[in-house]
Parts: sequence; C-alpha cells; structure tokens
Amino acid sequence: MQTMDSFNFKGRKALVRVDLNVPLDADFNVTDDNRTRAIVPTVKKILKDGGSVILMSHLGRPKGKVNPAMSLRPVAKHLEGLLGVAVQFATDCIGEDARTKAAALKPGEVLLLENLRFHPEEEKGDEAFSHALAQLGDVYVNDAFGTAHRAHASTTIVAKFFPKDKLFGYLIAAELDSLGKVLGQPKRPLLAIVGGAKVSSKIEVLQNLLAKCDEVIIGGGMAFTFIKAQGGQVGGSLVEDDHLGTAREILAAAKANGVKLHLPADAIVADAFADSANTDLCASGSIPDGWMGLDIGPAAIADFRAAVMRAKTILWNGPMGVFEMKNFQKGTRAVAEAVAEATKAGAYSLVGGGDSVAAVNQFGLADKISYVSTGGGAMLEYLEGKVLPGIAAIQA
Ligand code: AMP
Repeated sequence: MQTMDSFNFKGRKALVRVDLNVPLDADFNVTDDNRTRAIVPTVKKILKDGGSVILMSHLGRPKGKVNPAMSLRPVAKHLEGLLGVAVQFATDCIGEDARTKAAALKPGEVLLLENLRFHPEEEKGDEAFSHALAQLGDVYVNDAFGTAHRAHASTTIVAKFFPKDKLFGYLIAAELDSLGKVLGQPKRPLLAIVGGAKVSSKIEVLQNLLAKCDEVIIGGGMAFTFIKAQGGQVGGSLVEDDHLGTAREILAAAKANGVKLHLPADAIVADAFADSANTDLCASGSIPDGWMGLDIGPAAIADFRAAVMRAKTILWNGPMGVFEMKNFQKGTRAVAEAVAEATKAGAYSLVGGGDSVAAVNQFGLADKISYVSTGGGAMLEYLEGKVLPGIAAIQA
C-alpha cells in the first residue's frame, strides 16, 4: 500500500477528502480550528512534493440542498491563514466551475470545492457523482477519519476510480496507527475506560473490548444501569431499564473472559440535574429516591486511578460524570490526570469520543495523552470491531 511518505506527488493533482465540518459563528468565522489544523501536514506534503491539491469536504447537514449558511467558502479564507498559500474556491463540487478550476491548477496550488452534501448523491454514494469527483484529480487521498464509517461518494465510492493511486492522508494513518497500538498487539495490561450517558450506544463497544482487555472501567451515567442490574438502588440516576438484561450479559461475559470489571463504588449525588443542586456522597448501590448520581465518588476515583496506574495501554471513551457542570467534573478530571500520569510513566494512551476529548482539552491535558482521536462515531464503530468502508476502500 502507498503511504504519504512513500508517494511522490510531483506533477500530480491530488483529490483529498478532508473533514472541514467546522463550527462557524454568525460572521462565518471558524470558531474551533482543530479540524482545519489536522489537515495541514497532508496538504503541505503534497505541495512540497510539487503537486496540487483539490480539497473536498462536507459541512453541516444541508440534506442534499444548497444552503448558503453551510457554504465552505469562509473556510477557504481560514485555510489560507493556516497553509500560507492562496486557496481557490469552486462554487460547486462538480460541474463546470470545478472542472475548469481543477484543470487549470498548477503545482503548489490549492482548490477547495463547495460542500459535497449540497448534492444528495454524496450521502447516497452515487456512482456517477463519485465519477464526476474522481475526474477532477489523478490521485485520491482520504484524510477524513470522522466520516470513514460512512460509505459516501467522496469517502468510499470515489476510491474505485483510483485502482492504484489511492492512499490515506497523515491524519487517518495516525488514527489507524493509534487504534492498532490499542487493539492490535497492545502492551499489557490493556485497560478500557468507558463512560458517558448511555449503555445502549456502547453495548457493542463493550462486548468487543471484553474480548481484548485485561481490565474495563465503566463510569458515567451508564454505570447505573449495571448497578441496578446487580440489585443496587440508584434513585433517580440515569438508567436504561430495557438494557438491564444487556448489562447482566456484559457482567457475565467479563467474568467468563477473566476481565476485571470496575464499577464506581460511590457517587456524588444531587437532588436535581443542575450545578446549583444540593449534593451528597453515597454508595452507588444505595442512592435514595429523589437523588441522582452525577459523578463518581472518592472511593471510585481511588479504584479507577489504581487500575489506570497498573495499565500499560489505556483506551478512554466517555466521561465519568456530568463534567460540563463544575460540581460534577472531579471524577472525569481525576481519571484524565491519572491517564496523563500513566502516559508520562510509559503507558500508551488513546482518548476518543467527542466528550472525553472535550474533557481532556478543558483540563489542559490533551498534550499529555499519547493520541487524541478526531473521530467520534468512526472510532466507536472501529472499537465495535466493524470494518469502516472508507478504510476498506483504500485497502482494497
Ligand atoms: P456519551 O455521548 O454517551 O459519551 O455521553 C456524554 C454525556 O454523558 C456527557 O454530556 C455527560 O454530561 C453525560 N453524563 C456523564 N455522566 C452522567 C451521569 N452520571 N448522569 C447523567 N449524564 C451523565
């Protein structure tokens, strides 16, 4: 397989799928440039080789219709600042303007195409639309990990028109490398920390991880479904009653696989879902009615911290509590600090999922984690053991 380092882009027109789905304010300024900065190494390498770059992306959910509020035009300006070169813009991702501008592109130049999802064919994975995109370039680079789990025209179908000249950009390569370090041949013990609101969204992740991990921590709102399934009283905590059976199955699978499964021993409880609520400390299985667990307590923190410090490979997805509220962020912060400390001591750590990434950023710890993933949904599907179509299309 070709890689960014082995491929020479000299004289080539690279059609590059990137993730420029960035937040814009009312004046169309990019308010968070994590995604735009993430594409820079790939674009710069192509330009340095003497190639030209045609960038394509979606932005928001225009549902197959042109929506000026979701135009990528403002992002072109923003990219110019990051790349230090002019970024041309095509007012449609296919059609005459795109064709003419792509054809005229010279080595060292960059063209950004308008929002792919202005066409319903993008999400449908339409062949003819994919072909029209493919004709703009002569080598295809996929660097959009965040959409790699979608079999869309620009992420997957387009690859078939580049039987030889297709490769991953640096960002996807780094994501796959990191996931490989965790799920391939990890240094053991391998610990997974899974949190967040819902068990239902992480059942398959947990099932897949139980087959690979030495220890698993379950925290956050989803822990209460497990605690109730074991006969505990959880008061008004978040519980998915229709998943009590699933929780029991997961507990049984952990036992059968010899996986040490940790649930929070205690919880910070509140009498309302609000930062201003009254709070108390409670054993997780003895929460009175009228109270709900919104964070893990000190005993849980001590137990989770010890597991983190034992681990040589750590995967973390999902917060330990309602970390968006000041009074319920202590558990998530403690776990983030422990992961950073373990990493410093030599463990490999991967943090993924929108909320856990937001948490490590909020605590200023992102640069103390081995790798912070950019793809929420894509990473979850990978952790479920699924083959991502955008990945398979390059490897085919
Ligand atoms: P998810 O998208 O499933 O990863 O869930 C993330 C959300 O879970 C965050 O917004 C947290 O505020 C929320 N969360 C974490 N712990 C709790 C809890 N104990 N009760 C209610 N919500 C929680």
